[in-house]
Amino acid sequence: MTRSISILGATGSVGEQTLDLIGRNREEWRVEALTANCSAQKLAQMAREFGAKLAVVGDENCLPELREALAGTDIETAGGPAALCEAAARPVDMTVAAIVGCAGLGPVMAAIERGGTVALANKEALVSAGEVMTAAVAKHGATLLPVDSEHNAIFQCLQGHRLSDVARITLTASGGPFREWTQEQLDAATPEQAVAHPNWDMGAKISVDSATMMNKGLEYIEAHHLFPVGLERLKIVVHPQSVIHSMVEYRDRSTLAQLGPSDMRVPIASCLAWPARMDTPMETLDLAEIGELSFFAPDETRFPATRLAREAIEAGGAAPATLNAANEVAVAAFLAGQIAFTRIPVMVEQTLNRYSAAAPRTLEDVLSVDSEARAHAAELLENA
Ligand code: NAD
Ligand code: MG
Repeated sequence: MTRSISILGATGSVGEQTLDLIGRNREEWRVEALTANCSAQKLAQMAREFGAKLAVVGDENCLPELREALAGTDIETAGGPAALCEAAARPVDMTVAAIVGCAGLGPVMAAIERGGTVALANKEALVSAGEVMTAAVAKHGATLLPVDSEHNAIFQCLQGHRLSDVARITLTASGGPFREWTQEQLDAATPEQAVAHPNWDMGAKISVDSATMMNKGLEYIEAHHLFPVGLERLKIVVHPQSVIHSMVEYRDRSTLAQLGPSDMRVPIASCLAWPARMDTPMETLDLAEIGELSFFAPDETRFPATRLAREAIEAGGAAPATLNAANEVAVAAFLAGQIAFTRIPVMVEQTLNRYSAAAPRTLEDVLSVDSEARAHAAELLENA
């Protein structure tokens, strides 16, 4: 039976890997909408190749180029943030939410409000919206499947079990490319060094987050919303080989772990086929060749981001959305060569200290916290 799918952020790392899997099982899928921020040529080429009905760019300035690239086809085109939400609201069997940043929140909420099945990679949307999103999932009877490899691992380890029997959930972290760097080396880290991740091939923003460990901080908050076992039961362990993607320990002290190659197509496939399974092109896991798995406690002196995230979710209210917004501004500034690598967590902490708002209750509240927190973070940049 053919299933319909829309991919938000189709031109990115997760989007492309999703299309790679779909390309290997073409007869099983019908592509409804594909979206990008700009990358009009790439989006048009994907839309043609996969016979999409609709192609949307978030940046309206890129619409003319998209129209031209798709002239003569019957693929519909649209542009702008509202068009992204309209695309996400079209009924499909599965929506893959793979936009980076809080920019993806509106479209994710549109897909949830339609009561669909959403494979969520866009962690910033869940971190910012928190209960606003989980409440909408419950209200509209939507299904959220976690694409993020750690959360996908936890989701798999929880199948057939009760959340109330969980003693501990452990998120594994690779530690990123700077795991063994000194403070002095970190101060001088360049964007090129930060985006070269040892285990995973990812977009620029998440690669920097991985280097600062803010990725694990965001994932800690993400896990809290997806698997509400209480923050005291949520732990992080550094595991440089990225073979164990996360673990769940039950009250009888039995621990279940999910292992796999560090390739996002494995967790993406788990969502696409859920609750069944599908083939992926990866090699089978050769543990004898891997040889050793090692584990370390996180170092929050050199990498304060996980502490900031934990404090933000403990504080609750607008703090997680503020943390995320400040981090997005700081990462963009670092990638643009405006600030040092170690300024990223400092800027996040300063923004959290300077700005507070009432707990967001609606999508509009979340978006306004996001834009106000960004303005505060941008001010810190100007005064640097
Ligand atoms: P990416 O930068 O490679 O791709 C991002 C996609 O979003 C692109 O299609 C881009 O055009 C689109 N986009 C960017 N800004 C936009 C905007 N303002 N409006 C509309 N669309 C916009 O990012 P990625 O690495 O694929 O990551 C996507 C999401 O998945 C992130 O939230 C990331 O944290 C999460 N994730 C990624 C990986 C990975 O391996 N890449 C793993 C786990 C989770
Ligand atoms: Mg992850």
